[in-house]
Amino acid sequence: MSGNGDRRGAGLDRLVSFTIPGRHVRGRTARLGPVLGRILAAHDYPPVIQRLLAEALVLTALVGGLLKREGSQLTMQAQAKGGVVGLMVCDYRDGELRGYVQHDDALLAGLGDDPALPDLFGQGHLAITFEPAATNQRYQGVVPLEGTSLTAAMEAYFAQSEQVPTLIRTAVDMRGKNSVGGGLLVQHLADGEEGQARLHLRVDHPEWEHVAVLAHSVRTGELIEPDLSLEQLVWRLFHEEPEVRVQQAVQLARGCRCSTVHFEEVLARFPKEDRRDMRDENGIILVDCAFCSREFAIQD
Ligand SMILES: [Zn+2]
Repeated sequence: MSGNGDRRGAGLDRLVSFTIPGRHVRGRTARLGPVLGRILAAHDYPPVIQRLLAEALVLTALVGGLLKREGSQLTMQAQAKGGVVGLMVCDYRDGELRGYVQHDDALLAGLGDDPALPDLFGQGHLAITFEPAATNQRYQGVVPLEGTSLTAAMEAYFAQSEQVPTLIRTAVDMRGKNSVGGGLLVQHLADGEEGQARLHLRVDHPEWEHVAVLAHSVRTGELIEPDLSLEQLVWRLFHEEPEVRVQQAVQLARGCRCSTVHFEEVLARFPKEDRRDMRDENGIILVDCAFCSREFAIQD
């Protein structure tokens, strides 16, 4: 082990999967550091929106981490009317995260530092889309954007849409480019790991209740402590269980799949007249990537 110098941040930008076989529980824990700073730096969002996007990105990493196959994608989309935020999109693929928020600065100005979820979103819904690689089994679940937080809305998604008892905790510590966001997700698969048919939905789960109590004991500070590795966190919470299987961590990164080719394909779907209106005197159409704010000059 080296000295103090490079220990800081050992637990950042990582995602760890684990199972507790004796309880039919699987879990994910993730912590974002520099990746979060880089995603936020691409936008000029006010603090409230930064905090919201940070929470959303932690959730996206946790739920995206449930995907098994390489090339699979998870998209979380919040769409709403009558509040500050009209649209928020985050996605995850192979450890890469990205996200953006469309919001109304004028409405936000009247809300103070810590607005409630209904003030942020008005009436809205949260859509979770899983696109497993190498299959056509894209599936989407939609739940109302309700409850005290985005994290609570995501828990409601699992309860209502998937009927899987799920506990999620998230925390964010906003410090500009040194911001940290962390989270823990545990869920009960009553009849074993996924892929097996669930014969019946049990209402009471003594084994689940036990794990939920342990997971519930996680402290905010532990979720966002850069020096506490995720493996240590799992151990702290569940070390009294006879067996906890921890998989190798996934390195998280800021990733965007925008490219000239991508926007050429998007523009090709517009009618010719529309494209004519968009291009400048040199036949160039300027397109912004909403996720990373990069500008592309597309020759039409
Ligand atoms: Zn991009």
